[in-house]
Amino acid sequence: MKKTLSASDIRTLDECELAYKNRSKGRRKAPDNLFEVVGDTVHAAVAVKPEERAQVIAQFLEKLPEEEREEAQGIVEELVATADELEEESDATELKKENQLSWFDPISGWTLKAKPDDTGMTTNDYGREIPMVLDKKTAIHPKFKGRRAALRLLEKYKKQVFFFGLVYSMEKGYYGPIKLVVRFLGDPGDRVPNDMKFEGTDTELWFWYSPKGTERSLNEVRSIIKRIETARAKNEFRANTGFHCYTCPYREACQAFQAWDANRSDMDRPAAARRGQVVATILPVVQPKTA
Ligand code: SF4
Repeated sequence: MKKTLSASDIRTLDECELAYKNRSKGRRKAPDNLFEVVGDTVHAAVAVKPEERAQVIAQFLEKLPEEEREEAQGIVEELVATADELEEESDATELKKENQLSWFDPISGWTLKAKPDDTGMTTNDYGREIPMVLDKKTAIHPKFKGRRAALRLLEKYKKQVFFFGLVYSMEKGYYGPIKLVVRFLGDPGDRVPNDMKFEGTDTELWFWYSPKGTERSLNEVRSIIKRIETARAKNEFRANTGFHCYTCPYREACQAFQAWDANRSDMDRPAAARRGQVVATILPVVQPKTA
């Protein structure tokens, strides 16, 4: 039985227990759509040396039907160029790509896993060198979204990077502050920013991990693990239907979704679903990760 927990597992469980069960059992997903493939490709491409990128991009794009590859390649190249530019502008040092961080929790018997895009060092407001954990999104900064969407995303990103911070801290045995950075590669175009206050820049969100919160975070993680173990013992994973189902990778075989969707009018569905296509555009593209 799988006894590992990642930020993606927690996000999936929060959304729907049944989707978590499917994920943890490695059930077959709906085929990747263009935006998911673009997200995966960008993350893979920025993690390798520039001279290896063309090959990596071509390999990833093979997952798409041939007629979509050219469009996808254009988007990928643009996002990769933005990632390079932002990396050059950053003051981070000792950057390491695609680290797999993991820590075995002796109390729960589970291993916590985190895969941020980069880790490195940076300077805090007091001029002190501290570790930095960075995650890249192919989406746009929440400041260019509507208030409701921005708040939802903020919560989601925060949970993810704080989990990364926790695993980093436990794996390294480092008990000081960590700068948690979410970097956005998407171009907001002409969108007008909302009136919310964010710490960071137009392309980054910053959070600060404090070791004072470690005990509380560990307790929260352990209660999530308990919840999973209880659900497993009873084999009871509740289906939680809602708008999020339209982006769920398990929707095609999900009876709860089919029943829920059948009672909705066409106008209640996202535009892409009305056209009978795979839905990809209603949520920002974030990289699906295994850890
Ligand atoms: S389609 Fe909806 S109800 Fe079904 S597994 Fe996915 S999120 Fe859960």
